[in-house]
Amino acid sequence: MNNFQYQNPTKILFGKGQIASLDKELPRDANILLLYGGGSIKRNGIYEQVTATLGDRKVVEFGGIPANPEYAKLMEALKVIRELDITYILAVGGGSVIDGAKFLSAAARYTGDDPWKILTDNISVKEGLPFATVLTLPATGSEMNSGSVITRAETKEKLAMGGPGLFPVFSILDPEVIHSIPQRQLANGITDAFTHVLEQYMTYPTGALLQDRLAESILQTLIEVAPKVLEDPTDYTAASNFMWSCTMALNGLISKGVPTDWAVHAMGHELTALYGIDHARTLAIVAPSHYTYNFEAKREKLAQYGERVWNITEGSTEERARAAIVRTEDFFHQLGIDTKLSDYTDDYEGTGEEVARRFTERGWKGLGEHRSLTPSDAEQIVKMAY
Ligand code: NAP
Ligand code: FE
Repeated sequence: MNNFQYQNPTKILFGKGQIASLDKELPRDANILLLYGGGSIKRNGIYEQVTATLGDRKVVEFGGIPANPEYAKLMEALKVIRELDITYILAVGGGSVIDGAKFLSAAARYTGDDPWKILTDNISVKEGLPFATVLTLPATGSEMNSGSVITRAETKEKLAMGGPGLFPVFSILDPEVIHSIPQRQLANGITDAFTHVLEQYMTYPTGALLQDRLAESILQTLIEVAPKVLEDPTDYTAASNFMWSCTMALNGLISKGVPTDWAVHAMGHELTALYGIDHARTLAIVAPSHYTYNFEAKREKLAQYGERVWNITEGSTEERARAAIVRTEDFFHQLGIDTKLSDYTDDYEGTGEEVARRFTERGWKGLGEHRSLTPSDAEQIVKMAY
């Protein structure tokens, strides 16, 4: 196990009716920006639950943050923050709204000339405007981590940012919010969380026995609850385990003491930037190719995953490892998620080259847990996913 430090300051308020605790948790004298997405919260009762607890606090609403939070829209919100002297952001939404709040938190305190540089210059954000979240869609883990991914349509870019100053102060996780989530987004949430675990777990054997078992237990729980959540989102046992699994998949715990990969996300982000494919679906496209391409380096771990998570006990290490990749792709298919780029666009020729070109231009010469995957490897992996 590698040396590590672990600190996660986000307070979690989990369970039915917890949205009402906003009144206790939010500072009374805060000047609040209530940030939300395309309007689902106004149709499913979450907006009423939130506003009912805010009392006489000063609140300004800013809606319209799209899925894959868009830089231009966020810059409009930044203007409101500056003009109205906002002191606190309350993000009510899924990963897109929460990631948008993180960008705004950083940008509000940024003293440079161009806030886009927070993303392009890899600035580690030490301090931001305080913000909290009411999670409406289990998927990303953004409610309990300090990372964010922002999209810029103008340049077809999707870049990550983060830093120790970007943890939410608190996050409210009420599993009943999933009642109104469309099937497509439920399937996306399961797939995103599942792949988050794989990115931290599917690395060369590390001697991190507990982290392995924690990761496997999250994968097993997601596999167990996935059909139940899709069949009946009002099944509270399934919903609550789904929600907590998604948070645990990316709140920093299982990545401690182990090398992490994240190459699937790096390639996936390009597919969203280029074609607008849902984030989770890009991961389902890239992951099977990634594990096949890097089979030698990941064989032992793939076999362990196959055995412990999918009960694949027959065959050699090589056969169990190969079968584990097939089972993973089957799982995505069972969720209704296609796993080839050509399922989403006819315009896929040249994508591998474009991804490699972008990685080279950004100086991303080595991806993966050993920083050994070159842009030309990424090109091959993306081509395998056509
Ligand atoms: P999302 O983009 O936040 O939301 C997807 C859709 O679901 C939106 O149309 C939204 O509608 C709808 N929705 C959300 N909650 C709903 C509810 N309770 N009922 C009905 N509809 C609801 O989805 P996401 O998967 O959570 O976030 C994806 C983004 O997060 C991507 O940009 C991805 O790159 C990023 N991400 C971040 C991290 C991280 O650690 N920070 C990790 C992985 C991915 P409305 O807009 O109308 O609300
Ligand atoms: Fe993700």
